Amino acid sequence: MRNVNQNAIQKTKVAIIGAGFGGLAMAIRLLQSQIKDFVILEKTNDVGGTWRENQYPGAACDVQSHMYSLSFAPKTDWSKRYAEADEIFDYIQDITEQYTLKDYCRFNHEVTHAEFDEQRNIWTVEFKDQPTLEAQFVIFASGPLHVPQVPHLKGIEKFKGKVFHSSQWDHDYDLSGKSVASIGTGGSAIQYIPEIAPEVKQLYVFQRTAAWVIPRDERKYSKLSKTLFKASNLYRQIHRSRLYWTNESRVVPIVQPQIMKYGQKLAEAFIRFQVKDKALAKKLTPDFVMGCKRILISNKYFPTFNRKNVELITDGVQEITENGIMTKDGKERQIDCLIYGTGFITDPRIYLKHFNCVGRNGIELKQAWKDGAESYYGISTKNFPNLFQLLGPNTILGHNSVIFMIESQVSYILQLIQTVDKTGTQAIEVKHDVQDQFNERVQEQLKGTVWQAGGCSSWYQAADGKNFSLWPTYTWRFWLETRKVNVADYNFISTTANVKNNAA
Ligand SMILES: Cc1cc2nc3c(=O)[nH]c(=O)nc-3n(C[C@H](O)[C@H](O)[C@H](O)COP(=O)(O)OP(=O)(O)OC[C@H]3O[C@@H](n4cnc5c(N)ncnc54)[C@H](O)[C@@H]3O)c2cc1C
Repeated sequence: MRNVNQNAIQKTKVAIIGAGFGGLAMAIRLLQSQIKDFVILEKTNDVGGTWRENQYPGAACDVQSHMYSLSFAPKTDWSKRYAEADEIFDYIQDITEQYTLKDYCRFNHEVTHAEFDEQRNIWTVEFKDQPTLEAQFVIFASGPLHVPQVPHLKGIEKFKGKVFHSSQWDHDYDLSGKSVASIGTGGSAIQYIPEIAPEVKQLYVFQRTAAWVIPRDERKYSKLSKTLFKASNLYRQIHRSRLYWTNESRVVPIVQPQIMKYGQKLAEAFIRFQVKDKALAKKLTPDFVMGCKRILISNKYFPTFNRKNVELITDGVQEITENGIMTKDGKERQIDCLIYGTGFITDPRIYLKHFNCVGRNGIELKQAWKDGAESYYGISTKNFPNLFQLLGPNTILGHNSVIFMIESQVSYILQLIQTVDKTGTQAIEVKHDVQDQFNERVQEQLKGTVWQAGGCSSWYQAADGKNFSLWPTYTWRFWLETRKVNVADYNFISTTANVKNNAA
């Protein structure tokens, strides 16, 4: 154990790290189960996570709002099929207020170190600037897409203009009349590019890999629909179920990429229909199977390239100069502003660089995951008793709402906590062989899917190609498998230092 001032230590039963959708969902379910001895540790000064951070122009979800919300905290008046960031952020604020979650939040608490004390079966949680905390259970809800990915561009330190990442958009900086370079063509970039193009003098879009972008359902919900959703819970649930099963049907072409080629033909036609210049349309057409990277939705992205003030650049960036950006062909373009639309660091081994998490026998999480992040249903990790995670390894999605996964995980974690309490033990740890077999199965299921066999490298994969992020199949299967904790999968630990197998 590291030296900490014992007098200053505060104690809690459950420490939740992160006040985004995950952390708040966990908190609500704890409250509903009469577990009130918990805190939500949040490094910033507000709730919201993704939707507090990503306020760039055009920011919106790409899963239908009635699905991209908590089933136990429904909102009946979503304005349209795919809500914008502001509306999602307001929804999060509303549920925070409804469940008085701010009473449990400790803002400006950035967790920097968590260590398991095997003698006492307690986690010690340390912060950047706050007193240490002890907790029986720690729940990571710190977000899979949270740490900006910023490429190191040669010469960037010389650049005299403005630079920011899409998730740290500087709204005080006026883009009108400016020459702007945008790097990346992922989920965020395809949303802000059409929004800023009419405003700027010149927009240079740097594309390394083209993105599959399909039409977006822009329909607003009518007054009548909203009234019916409010009046009839059944009607709203039927609507939500329809969205859910539509999204689930996308698993079919994902696991059988040969079917995907039919959808891909339509997506190719969409590009040709929207982009006037044939050569440009070709450049915007990806050379990998649709679905290998996240399929994006926008009706505005491709037409942006018909504008005279927008140029698509596929030559790599050579270096940044004082006032511009130089491509590998030696051409320099003068710019006032550089925007990184380069997404997020998704490999936990990299984003945990500045966060030490130490489990049993002094094992560090980074070290445990050195060959790729692995856990049991993205929740429990061997050697890390009472440490649970939301949206951990292999539980994010390419086809449906991650809120569905979060809800399944929250309910599973709640059962784990209740089981420990019920058995009179203090801690619970997933059996090593159970975790290993689970991961073998996941990797086996991923083989042959469009994510592995689609001919691209994506943020779903580590540098060695291992897919550490995606759930490989239907989400109803995840729900079914995690609906009830199988106590035989766990070892129970009590303070007398004995390890009980299959307790309960
Ligand atoms: C632009 C964008 C659009 C998206 N759209 C969709 C979509 O349409 N559908 C979908 O299913 N998913 C989407 N996602 C994925 C999205 O991340 C999840 O849907 C969801 O918001 C994750 O919630 P979370 O609570 O797990 O994480 P987050 O919302 O990222 O919240 C994590 C919180 O933890 C805090 N935190 C992190 N580290 C620490 C620390 N060390 N100490 C204390 N606090 C910490 C952060 O400040 C943050 O508030 C999108 C992501 C982005 C970036």
